[in-house]
Amino acid sequence: MSKDISIIVPIYNEEESLPHLLERVSEVMRATKYKWEIICVDDGSSDDSAQIMEDLKADYPELKPLYQRRNYGQTAAMQAGFDHAEGDVFVTMDGDLQNDPADIPMMMDVLKKENADIVSGWRRKRKDDDFRNFLSRTANKLVSKMTEVDLHDTGCSLKAYRKEVMENMRIYGELHRFIPAVVSQFGAKVVEVEVTHHARAFGTSKYGNIGRMFRVVLDLILLKFLLRYINRPMHAFGMTGMACLVPGGLLMSYLFLIKLFGGDIGHRPLLFLSVMLILMGVQLIGMGVLGELLVRIYHEPEGRRQYILRAGPRLRKLPKSDGEKLDEKSSPDEKLKKKAAPKKAAASKTAKKSTAKKTTAKKL
Ligand code: UDP
Ligand code: MG
Repeated sequence: MSKDISIIVPIYNEEESLPHLLERVSEVMRATKYKWEIICVDDGSSDDSAQIMEDLKADYPELKPLYQRRNYGQTAAMQAGFDHAEGDVFVTMDGDLQNDPADIPMMMDVLKKENADIVSGWRRKRKDDDFRNFLSRTANKLVSKMTEVDLHDTGCSLKAYRKEVMENMRIYGELHRFIPAVVSQFGAKVVEVEVTHHARAFGTSKYGNIGRMFRVVLDLILLKFLLRYINRPMHAFGMTGMACLVPGGLLMSYLFLIKLFGGDIGHRPLLFLSVMLILMGVQLIGMGVLGELLVRIYHEPEGRRQYILRAGPRLRKLPKSDGEKLDEKSSPDEKLKKKAAPKKAAASKTAKKSTAKKTTAKKL
């Protein structure tokens, strides 16, 4: 049965958050008229998250759990969610309740009112540590400049997408952060709204600051390449190759002439430079040719996925070697009883900015 909204939540070791997440989301969504579902995608958690998800199905019929065979990463988990979503609108959010489900109806209103394709959250009053906030601000400026999509907070997971935008889109690596940048290149309208952000109440962040910084920079280079050269890698590699080959060839001709007139070139640094330039040039052009072949292969196997789902939740954790019993951990039901509803926070919401018109999407 089709739904209005599919809420997609990647879950990696969020056993403590899960019951609160379901409670908060259903509290908010049951107060609306929307037909909704929540797809929690267990990303190969090593804690009891998967089993808790399975148990929570009894209390929340809207819950559709998916279980990835191993830890494929947040992007693959989101992709699995998109592939199994039945809603007309997909809403993504984190499973740690740093995003506030109370923002979802507001984002739906903006989506409709602004006739947008994506509504992207902006954690203006962010509750992460200062260093992280600083890195994030710098990264966002860089991303805005490089992608020419003016978002304050591209990394915010809380986003609402029209189904059509995501239908033909495949996201790999950690490219989930850049979906708005990608789709707006193809004419989608992206609107940014302020959303509430909470400090992490349970568990820890799954990413380190420095590692993430380097990965974001690498992803940006990749994104720039994909957006500009996805269908013509020969131009990217070939032009750089030519820029090496031509000066290399000229230098080599010059040295050849010197040699021809009896000069000694064996010890000249220029010889090494020209050999290096020629080799690099040939290699880069060769890579361009390979790239062109890959592009052709890339377009062939339509519908290939980069993850495998398991049929049900993982088994409960095996006892540790020191004889610890399985049931020493409190059951999900007990955890549900230990309610600690996350603090409500009201934040001003301002709809902001947009780009162009209709949507087509692209595989990345
Ligand atoms: N996550 C995931 N797979 C991973 C890492 C993270 O599914 O390999 C999920 C995680 O459970 C959370 C969301 O992605 O729901 C964001 O992760 P986290 O809160 O650790 O990131 P941060 O808020 O520090 O950016
Ligand atoms: Mg988080």
